[in-house]
Amino acid sequence: PKVDHALSKDLYQLMEEACNFYQAQLRQHSDKEKAQNYLEYRGLSSEVVERFNIGFAPDGWDNLLSRYRDNQGLQEKLLTAGMLIANDNGKRYDRFRDRLMFPIRDRRGRVIGFGGRVFGEGTPKYLNSPETPIFHKGNELYGLYELKLKHRNPHRALIVEGYMDVVALAQYGVDYAVASLGTSTTAEQLQLLQRSAQEVVCCYDGDRAGKEAAWRALETALPLLKPGDKLKFMFLEQGEDPDSTVRNIGKEAFEHHIEQSKSLEAFLFEKLTEDSAGDKSTLAKQAMALIEKVKDEILQNLLLENLAHKLGLNSSDELKKKFGFNSQAAKANPLGAKGLKGRGTPLRLA
Ligand code: ATP
Ligand code: MN
Ligand code: MN
Ligand code: MN
Repeated sequence: PKVDHALSKDLYQLMEEACNFYQAQLRQHSDKEKAQNYLEYRGLSSEVVERFNIGFAPDGWDNLLSRYRDNQGLQEKLLTAGMLIANDNGKRYDRFRDRLMFPIRDRRGRVIGFGGRVFGEGTPKYLNSPETPIFHKGNELYGLYELKLKHRNPHRALIVEGYMDVVALAQYGVDYAVASLGTSTTAEQLQLLQRSAQEVVCCYDGDRAGKEAAWRALETALPLLKPGDKLKFMFLEQGEDPDSTVRNIGKEAFEHHIEQSKSLEAFLFEKLTEDSAGDKSTLAKQAMALIEKVKDEILQNLLLENLAHKLGLNSSDELKKKFGFNSQAAKANPLGAKGLKGRGTPLRLA
């Protein structure tokens, strides 16, 4: 692709140019086989590579930079966009080198950042664009634009950990997954996805980190959920992620697993029951602290009824009395505006 040297170009245009450049390298660079072999090794089809505009950043310090050799102004913009780095002496070089490139688009389809994977072993495994004026990791979801191209009003969306998960799932026909970029899913990401699909299913890796990420997502979501929002949790076999799972079992079985996802209340009580190891008073306290955060009254009442049942109480009214429980609605009244702590009668349970 040709480089247009107009200084008036904005960061979005430069990012699109970089995206085109990396895609072109995958087709024509003298080292392209390295990237193509890796794609084959990962079992990615050319269709899905096209669909996600996956590219190749060749090894070397100035593959991208050299295209802007005579244009300081655009180099400055590329620095701002996170595509170049300046060392202590002010010397500039390419941020992404010798990596498979996943462009990250915003909801409108504009390229705003990249994730780059090393070929084989090496650290970091994924190098992501830094925060820039146009890229705020916590507000974006990898694959959301591509999902919306396929489904204008998706009934369901999956949230997974990685780029590879999104792409592999799409290749197998599970074309409604997005990835949170980096570690934990933020409130903004959950809200963004809840607005896009009626049902959101968290499907993190089948390891300890994945399980913890699911729990953090639940805690993040509790105060945000609105009536009608559905949030579910899918757990994978130990050591597997969505990419490996869909390759092992195929689309149909994978979607069957999605159908079996845990409801929010099931996951919540399972986790708390596990953590409290049979101590009902601990279970009650921890559950009440979470339930108090819920703003959706229907969900809150459902959780209270569930908890009452678990504790062997007759009704959630009994529970509320024991805890001096304030619903969010009650808290709007300044006279009722006291927290949960230190109030109510101490809980005595068999
Ligand atoms: P692969 O299948 O290519 O090994 P993965 O997606 O299964 O990749 P994980 O280790 O499960 O890799 O990580 C999940 C996601 O977390 C990655 O896709 C990436 O977005 C992010 N991530 C992982 N390692 C790093 C890292 N070192 N730095 C930044 N982000 C990372
Ligand atoms: Mn992992
Ligand atoms: Mn993986
Ligand atoms: Mn993984």
